[in-house]
Amino acid sequence: MEHDIDTDIDTGARERGARRDEAVAAAVEQGLLGPGAPLVGLLDVTGIRESAAELRAAFEAVAAPGTPVLHAFAVKATPLVPVLRLLWEEGVGAEVASPGELALARAAGVPSTATVLDSPAKTPAELREALALGVAVNADNPQELDRLDALMRTASSGSPLGIRVNPQVGGGSIEALSTATATSKFGVALRDEGARQWVVRAYLERPWLTRLHAHTGSQGIPLTLMAHGVAETYALAEEINARVGRRQIDTLDIGGGLPVNFASDAATPTYAEYARLLAETVPGLFDGRYGLVTEFGRSLLAKHGTVVARVEYAKSAGGRPVAVTHAGVQVATRTVYAPGAWPLRIAAYDAKGRPKEGPAVVQDVAGPACFAGDLLAREQALPLLEQGDHAAALDTGAYYFAHHYAYNSLARPGIYGFAPEGEKGVAFAVVREPQTLAEIVAESGGAHAEALTTLRASGRG
Ligand SMILES: *Cc1c(COP(=O)(O)O)cnc(C)c1O
Repeated sequence: MEHDIDTDIDTGARERGARRDEAVAAAVEQGLLGPGAPLVGLLDVTGIRESAAELRAAFEAVAAPGTPVLHAFAVKATPLVPVLRLLWEEGVGAEVASPGELALARAAGVPSTATVLDSPAKTPAELREALALGVAVNADNPQELDRLDALMRTASSGSPLGIRVNPQVGGGSIEALSTATATSKFGVALRDEGARQWVVRAYLERPWLTRLHAHTGSQGIPLTLMAHGVAETYALAEEINARVGRRQIDTLDIGGGLPVNFASDAATPTYAEYARLLAETVPGLFDGRYGLVTEFGRSLLAKHGTVVARVEYAKSAGGRPVAVTHAGVQVATRTVYAPGAWPLRIAAYDAKGRPKEGPAVVQDVAGPACFAGDLLAREQALPLLEQGDHAAALDTGAYYFAHHYAYNSLARPGIYGFAPEGEKGVAFAVVREPQTLAEIVAESGGAHAEALTTLRASGRG
């Protein structure tokens, strides 16, 4: 059995790598990538569909038949309307955390019944809109619950409402992504003095609070710690329902946070592994008494995105080869600023986009931005990149090229989805057009060129 699972993982990795290789070559051949368009983001539509199907299957395998399960994709991971539409077609809704993300989900056609609003800083206007739309809301703190109270007094809403708690089970290897530390800014810190009693009372006093939410993410958190966070949340729901004397909390939102393997093509850990661990750790979660919401982001998309950049120049400094490419801090912000926490694998392709052969040479892969640390990879062993070749940053489908950072006014690259077509062919679809120079000027105050020179201090006496 274990052997079969490993074989599946290997096969998936091989097929994903083969699809990527074909797409890079086709992108060069079809002119999406070349001297005039030296940077693109590519999305593997087949892979995205497969991951969505694996997610659904993993929870179906452990949940009692008929258990309502909403998988809500954390939009922040890949905030692109066509991606949200594709996921919705695959039965995956949206977890949103800002007015912008809510607008993207709506533009993609994700219904409000499949949308969850979680942000930590919701304004009264945002809360009012969410309730008017019927979007599920998890209140982050007592002050937000006050605002919900006021809204619920004046209007009825179909929105399922809950409270987000922080089980404070501890952090992982990446401090900035650990949401369940003692001092995390998210949710009601459950182990603080009086907090648990406050939460229980909040439910006792509000029959319309029917959900409980925790997200013990994210990258860098061991699975056992994530499961521990879910177990604490489940225990609290059981305590609340016992106190109320009825099944007031009918749905548990267990968040996302499944880590991604950035070290190889293997998509591990798997959703199936996590779902089985949850079933072992918190058996009651799946016995049909609770509906479930999940909020996975990175694990659904990371493996299916690739940044491909042309090597503009190949040089050498202090004896080390440096490939100067068009992908740097603007598309790989986390990697450039925190290379220890976010290393990326680079694949070398030749000028025609074919996998580059040759002995591995330790080299740096640099970006186009004007500061020394703008490196996509340091001392990586790859076939020597030469002028006109291509460097591909792998596993960048989440939190990378969809998160443009406008350093040096570098343009947002075009993003294209791809799928196999016919014998060895590849079809592309535009997901996002490349940003034009006119757009950069317009977004940088181009319409207000005179604004500052005409603003003069006038006599204040
Ligand atoms: C970021 C976030 C997620 C998604 O985390 P991933 O690590 O991308 O799976 C889910 N829920 C909430 C509340 C988040 O903030």
